[in-house]
Amino acid sequence: MIPGGVNSPVRAFRSVGGTPFFTRSAQGARLTTVDGQELIDFVLTWGPAIHGHNDTEIRDAVREALDRGTSFGTPNPSEVAMAELILACVPAVQKVRMTNSGTEATMSAIRLARGFTGRPKIIKFSGCYHGHVDSLLVKAGSGALTQGNPDSAGVTPGTAADTIVVEYNNLPALQAVFAAEPQTIAAVILEPYPANVGLILPAPGFLQGLRDLCTKYGTVLIFDEVMTGFRLSLAGTQGLHNVVPDLVCMGKIIGGGLPVGALGGRAEIMNQLAPLGPVYQAGTLSGNPLAMAAGLAAVRKLQRTNPYPRLEQLGVQVRDTLLGAAKAKGIPLQVPQVGSMFSLFFNERPVQNYDQAIASNGDLYRKVFRYALDHGVYLAPSPYETAFLSTAHEGRDIEQACTVFAAAVKAL
Ligand SMILES: *Cc1c(COP(=O)(O)O)cnc(C)c1O
Repeated sequence: MIPGGVNSPVRAFRSVGGTPFFTRSAQGARLTTVDGQELIDFVLTWGPAIHGHNDTEIRDAVREALDRGTSFGTPNPSEVAMAELILACVPAVQKVRMTNSGTEATMSAIRLARGFTGRPKIIKFSGCYHGHVDSLLVKAGSGALTQGNPDSAGVTPGTAADTIVVEYNNLPALQAVFAAEPQTIAAVILEPYPANVGLILPAPGFLQGLRDLCTKYGTVLIFDEVMTGFRLSLAGTQGLHNVVPDLVCMGKIIGGGLPVGALGGRAEIMNQLAPLGPVYQAGTLSGNPLAMAAGLAAVRKLQRTNPYPRLEQLGVQVRDTLLGAAKAKGIPLQVPQVGSMFSLFFNERPVQNYDQAIASNGDLYRKVFRYALDHGVYLAPSPYETAFLSTAHEGRDIEQACTVFAAAVKAL
């Protein structure tokens, strides 16, 4: 009845083999399958659940909002509260518009950049995933990569023609593109920490170099922080690097587990959106009161509790466990990690770009995935996804998972 049995392709386990489990319920760091198996979850609904599953504060906020109605189609106060919160947290954002998914945010961001600059082309980086926007499904990561068709059928050559793909972490290549086409590039869009091809860390100076080039050529710099926003810090990547983009795409965590996205940035650019400006953008359910309530609760809890130092400690603990186990076994393994995000590349050298990522040994990942799942730990069902930690992962969850990870590597 459902194509591939799933409503989003990477859930289908195609790249690890076997069939996916169905989840009956989820609480804290754990999923319970319909068969009653309990799993420590490192997928966390693919990023949003930074407080773990079914967080009490988020649930209470949604319940309270629910009593007032599920959708109004008029302005409502919770949208204003959300805008205030995002502006207070994210330096680049002077104005913000809510959407219903990250895909809508990136799609709108590139339209806005084109409308603002009057230029046609965009630059993206190989391996960066920005949702299933036609013109961005070129050398994308995530499910597109997992399925082995980085260029989707149904995207016309005309649509792809205005997308220029550059290797991530390669400033000279980017510079060459700008030098060849100084007047045509509307925007550069990137995941500042690519997290849909496994996790790739920006080389020192890369983000600043990118900022400088965009400023020089009058090109809009778009950080797609759908994954990293509110995960790396309250300011996302901008909290770790002193680099301010022109536009930011957000999603995932700011919906607290409900469908959401957002697009924000410099007022001068954002004012081009309808009804103020000529760039059309809309959404029947955008700013939905339930999604706003969930997102507000999630972000306020982050503000109040500042979990980032602890999440970083947990991330380091998992990374060191994996690296230690691989060393003992004599298997080359890279574990890029930043804060609550990490991934496994069975590779001799640190992975800096898409080509190096996909040259990693996927079979070894599949074995670790399978062993972990058989022993109660759920990693992403693909070698090209990132693992997440949440504030609900307690010391004992991490201890238990680390024991399983070490045993999984030992068993290779
Ligand atoms: C998940 C993701 C998207 C797409 O968001 P959806 O809500 O799935 O449409 C876009 N960009 C990045 C970096 C993402 O991780």
